[in-house]
Amino acid sequence: MIKVEDLVKSYGQETILNNINCSFESNDAVVLLGPSGAGKSTLLRCLNGLIEATSGSIYIDGKKLPTDKKGIRLLRKNIGMIFQNFNLVKRLTVLDNVLCGRLSYNPTLPSFFKVYKKEDYELALYYLEKVGLVDKRNQRADNLSGGQMQRVAIARALVQRPTLLLADEPVASLDPKTSHAIMDLLMEVYEEEKLTMIITLHQIDLAPKYSKRILGLNSGNIVADYRSDQVKASD
Ligand code: ADP
Ligand code: ADP
Repeated sequence: MIKVEDLVKSYGQETILNNINCSFESNDAVVLLGPSGAGKSTLLRCLNGLIEATSGSIYIDGKKLPTDKKGIRLLRKNIGMIFQNFNLVKRLTVLDNVLCGRLSYNPTLPSFFKVYKKEDYELALYYLEKVGLVDKRNQRADNLSGGQMQRVAIARALVQRPTLLLADEPVASLDPKTSHAIMDLLMEVYEEEKLTMIITLHQIDLAPKYSKRILGLNSGNIVADYRSDQVKASD
């Protein structure tokens, strides 16, 4: 589904990604595992066109990743993105955060002007129910705990009906118990929505349980690539 060929990313003299070659199959759940500074986030951002590689190519379903604004916008319609710091709009409600990616909807309008498409609204409620926050839909996002904020971010990503879900250190700012709950939720929606999922993590203990495949990254190189059940079996 995704093919990465000879991908290099440099900033000035510093090479961050050093000739990366790998591919990602549809419906796989991959953890990009590696220490801080390994280049995980840079690779993930190249995949959704957030940053442009210095050289090399990325193909999605056989087509080269677009670099123009319109092409990237179309590409992103199929990609859900989840961040370490949740990236919610703090002063908006939970529901508004979930819906703010929908084009028909302008969250800056006063609330009685807001026009939800009925199906978007229903989908938002469906995913808020799924992440366990439907009762908090009218609360402001900044009233929530970190784990709850990440749940909102997951619902926001899913409302776009993506085929690919990219999560950049989704649990790095959460405590261990909450981290497990969020990773459980990600695996649950991965199964239910038949997603292709790529998650960056630095916690080696979480990786096997919450993936089907682990791709190890260090200093801009792929240093390991194995199926997660191979680790579980030898535990
Ligand atoms: P990881 O996600 O594995 O922690 P990153 O991809 O965020 O790693 O970063 C890898 C390296 O690239 C780090 O040393 C970081 O400082 C550097 N880097 C990331 N973005 C930039 C940038 N815009 N300019 C210069 N260096 C950057
Ligand atoms: P992450 O949450 O992925 O670790 P960082 O905190 O490393 O992100 O980086 C935040 C932003 O700063 C990103 O846009 C990244 O590209 C940029 N950045 C990271 N390291 C550097 C650097 N050494 N020089 C310039 N920009 C950087």
